[in-house]
Amino acid sequence: LPEQEAFNIEYWLLEEAKLQRMPRPKSLAGRVALITGGAGGIGSATADRYLSEGACVMLADINADGLQATKAALTQKFGQDVVRSVLMDVTDEAAVVNALAETAVEFGGIDIMVSNAGIASSAPVEDTTLELWNRNMDILSTGYFLVSREAFKVMRTQGMGGSVVFVASKNGLAASPNASAYCTAKASEIHLARCLALEGADVGIRVNVVNPDAVLQGSKIWEGEWLEQRATTYGTDKQGLQEMYRNRSMLKRSVLPEDIAEACYFFAADTSSKSTGNILNVDAGNVQAFTR
Ligand code: NAD
Repeated sequence: LPEQEAFNIEYWLLEEAKLQRMPRPKSLAGRVALITGGAGGIGSATADRYLSEGACVMLADINADGLQATKAALTQKFGQDVVRSVLMDVTDEAAVVNALAETAVEFGGIDIMVSNAGIASSAPVEDTTLELWNRNMDILSTGYFLVSREAFKVMRTQGMGGSVVFVASKNGLAASPNASAYCTAKASEIHLARCLALEGADVGIRVNVVNPDAVLQGSKIWEGEWLEQRATTYGTDKQGLQEMYRNRSMLKRSVLPEDIAEACYFFAADTSSKSTGNILNVDAGNVQAFTR
C-alpha cells in the first residue's frame, strides 16, 4: 500500500476501536418498567434485560421470598437505585391500584408495563371444577385487565405514551389437550391486548403480546401441578416433555426465559414504535408447524 493509504487505514481502525470502547447510550435509559410476576423465570429474565438497557424496574409479585431473592440478585448486578419490589396479588384490586401508584411515585412514572404474572393449571373438561376455572380466569384474564387499567391511567396522565406487553401463551392461539381453562384464559389475554391497543393508540400507548411456547428451564410453573398434569397427559417426565416440545418445533430448539425477555425488550423499546396490537410467538416455530 502507498504510505498515505496505509496510514489512513490504520487511523480509521484506531478510530473504530475507540468508538467500540465508548459507552453506548442505553435504549431504555430514563424509562420505568413495572413487571408483574417479576420473581418468576420469565419476569426476572425480562427485568435483567430491561435493567441492562438502563431502565428502572419495579418487580411485582405475590411471592415475598421470590421477590426478595430476585431483587437481591438484580441489585447486586445493577445497583440498588434501579430495582424496587412490591408485594402484589394481581387479583386484588386494591393491591394493584396501590402497587401501580407506588411505582409512579417511587420512580416518577411508568413507561413500560409487562403483565406476566401467571399460573398454569388445568384438567380434562369433566374434571375442571368451577374453582379451577375461576382461578385461571382471575389470575390470567382479570389480573391482566386490572394491571393494564391502572397502567393506562398512569400513562395517560403522563402524556408520553407507553408500552404495555402481555406475556400470554401459544396456548392462547392453539388448543392444548386437557387444558381448556388455561387456554381460554390465555386467549382472553390476547384479545384484551387487541382491544387495549385500539384504545391506547390515540395517546401513544402501544399494547403487544409475546407468546412463549413451553419454557421449562427456570420456570416455577414447571415444578408444580402443571408439570404433573402435562406429564400425565403426555405420559412422560420433565425431560421427556422438554424433548417433545423441542422435537415438534420447526427449529428443534428449546425456548428459554431469555428468549422471551428479548421479545419483551423489543416491544418495550422504540425500535417497535410502529407495532401495536401485535402478537410475537417465541416458539421455535411450534405454533405454525404440524408435526404432532
Ligand atoms: P413462574 O412461575 O416462574 O413465574 C410466574 C410468577 O407469577 C411467579 O413468580 C408467581 O409467584 C407469580 N404469580 C402467580 N400468581 C400471582 C398473582 N396472583 N399475583 C402476582 N403474582 C403472581 O412462571 P413463568 O414461566 O415465568 O411464567 C410467566 C408467564 O409466562 C405466565 O403468565 C405464564 O402463563 C406464561 N407462560 C409460561 C410458559 C412456560 O412454559 N413457562 C409458557 C407459556 C406462557
